[in-house]
Amino acid sequence: GNPGVPAPERRRLGVMGGTFDPIHHGHLVAASEVASAFHLDEVIFVPTGQPWQKSDRRVSAAEDRYLMTVIATAENPQFSVSRIDIDREGPTYTVDTLRDLHAMHPDADLFFITGADALAQILSWRDSDELFSLAHFIGCTRPGHTLSDAGLPVGGVSLVEVPALAISSTDCRNRVAKGEPVWYLVPDGVVRYIDKRALYAPHRT
Ligand code: ATP
Ligand code: MG
Repeated sequence: GNPGVPAPERRRLGVMGGTFDPIHHGHLVAASEVASAFHLDEVIFVPTGQPWQKSDRRVSAAEDRYLMTVIATAENPQFSVSRIDIDREGPTYTVDTLRDLHAMHPDADLFFITGADALAQILSWRDSDELFSLAHFIGCTRPGHTLSDAGLPVGGVSLVEVPALAISSTDCRNRVAKGEPVWYLVPDGVVRYIDKRALYAPHRT
């Protein structure tokens, strides 16, 4: 660069990948907490394509998961949603997500936000060296998960304690299927979208 001109501050971009089936307040609080703790400029939510980790159950249509994520994040000027994973052919691998975002934002530092449950899996991936060169990893602790024996590489991973929100998408889906409320577990607009599209209902017509 030009030695006379001070380098501009690199943007700090959070990346929150997830199935978001549905997105819930656990995801939103985690993103908000990490954005604050790590002074992020923006958090990009990235709904997955066909998730290879969840081939044991039917995942809602990508377009429904994308729209619920947009509805949940629309009011927050720091939050945005990317279609890169749902528009890419085939199953989603985090390394592809980060490669694409790195190419789109070459002047930004990426912070991949993930739950504690997913962190241990990430560290066991073959591509982990490349992953750590693409992003800093932030593991959010959630109820019922510990990181004690994860063997975390120093420098590549940080941990953030998120207020104990025992909310999971699995529980939200089960509640809807049983006719129980999900008000206040997910944003109001997401409650209404689930109802409008009859998502997670046991008998769909
Ligand atoms: P499911 O129950 O279907 O596995 P989920 O609630 O774990 O869904 P995902 O879309 O799988 O939601 O999660 C996306 C990311 O958010 C993952 O990294 C996950 O670990 C993290 N996450 C999920 N729930 C919480 C929560 N309550 N607090 C913090 N992080 C969470
Ligand atoms: Mg999960």
